Amino acid sequence: MREISVTLRAALALTLLTSACGDDPRPNVLLYVADTLRADDLACYGNPLIETPHVDRLAAEGSLFENAYAQSSWTRTSMASLLTSTYPAVHGVEGRMEALAEEMRVLPEMLSEAGYTTAAITGNPNIGSAFGFRQGFDEFFELYERRDAGRVRVGEFVTTADRVSEVAIEWIDRASEPFFLLVLSIDPHSPYEPPPEFDRFGGDYQGSASGKPEFINRLDLSRQDKQRIRALHYGEVAFNDHAFGKLVDDLEARGLYDRTAVIFVSDHGEEFWEHGGRGHGKTLFEEVVHVPLILRLPGRVAAGERVARPVELVDVVPTVLEFSDLPIPADIQGISLLALPAAQRLIQSRLVLDGTEINAVRLGPNKLIEEARGSSKLFDLGRDPGEKESVSEGFGEQRRALERMLVKSRQDNEILRVRLRGSSAPVSVRPDDLSPEVVRELERLGYIETEKDGG
Ligand SMILES: [Zn+2]
Repeated sequence: MREISVTLRAALALTLLTSACGDDPRPNVLLYVADTLRADDLACYGNPLIETPHVDRLAAEGSLFENAYAQSSWTRTSMASLLTSTYPAVHGVEGRMEALAEEMRVLPEMLSEAGYTTAAITGNPNIGSAFGFRQGFDEFFELYERRDAGRVRVGEFVTTADRVSEVAIEWIDRASEPFFLLVLSIDPHSPYEPPPEFDRFGGDYQGSASGKPEFINRLDLSRQDKQRIRALHYGEVAFNDHAFGKLVDDLEARGLYDRTAVIFVSDHGEEFWEHGGRGHGKTLFEEVVHVPLILRLPGRVAAGERVARPVELVDVVPTVLEFSDLPIPADIQGISLLALPAAQRLIQSRLVLDGTEINAVRLGPNKLIEEARGSSKLFDLGRDPGEKESVSEGFGEQRRALERMLVKSRQDNEILRVRLRGSSAPVSVRPDDLSPEVVRELERLGYIETEKDGG
């Protein structure tokens, strides 16, 4: 029965394609975000333990970016960067209470104004209307109960990846083209509770570990418990892959797959005790900022290509605008993935949460993590991909260069923040960090007044 209905639907879609939809050459866009997914969680990124056939297929038919970076290590900050193509200090969605400002331009607004039908399906309250993320969407599906802004608790993540895909499929069924659909699937975020048929990556564990927060955050876990917890996370990754596959199958059955740009990405990764802790939103090590990014659009994106050049979440907006033949605004900070420069570029991540401020910049194999102003660690990811030991001897020049770039990026971000969001109080930049030219620029914008005390 299912087979027949799919065939009929495909035939109907083909008829519609040749009549109503034939005029607009712009592709639909599916931006699929798997919440809390590390690059090395996926088989197509080299994980030998897991099975992720649907994402692997997307990679085989599109381009996989081997070195993709999230702009932060928790949902709200990273998603704001993904949707605005600006770095965290610019959009300012950083603390527990911060919402996306109305004056920030988001991708759905740009596409909606250009005639796209837009919708979001979100399984994470951090990306809800309470935090300003409804802007630009014709329809906005929040799959949880939430009344107030403020700190989101894991218990609010009540939906599952397959429910998210179901709602997406129902929407696609009535969406006019071209459409932009943002899907934020909450699995594999904790709690790690995969359906039993996906809980198959754990070996023969005998203990009592569960994927609930009260267990996974305990401090007395054995090595076997930790392996089991990681395996439960893998179960959720595989379940998410399955749900993503259902959505792709549906696009294919409707004849939409080849004219829909499919972008598969994550907002951040997850720590499993590599540096002592578990979870995310605490550090900026590779396990939380190195994310998957895969792009498929036949005719525009090479099939089966693996791109080693580093890219960032902020690159998604200009890429979509390029697909859609729309102008790329001057005020965005990403670069289209279709036109990556050959030269090395600076990758930026930042975390300002719960009283800490961490900044990280990467250029080539060198990554500088500044955990407090004036105190930084340099890692050589070429020799030490796990960031186990910071380097000092023989790296003085690289360290100074990255420190200068961090200062420069801080100034550039502050100038752009003021230009885009006006003269509200600075969030994190202190006057001592500013160069004379930045001070002049801020004065010109009416943002600060120079003291003229002369003494
Ligand atoms: Zn997240």
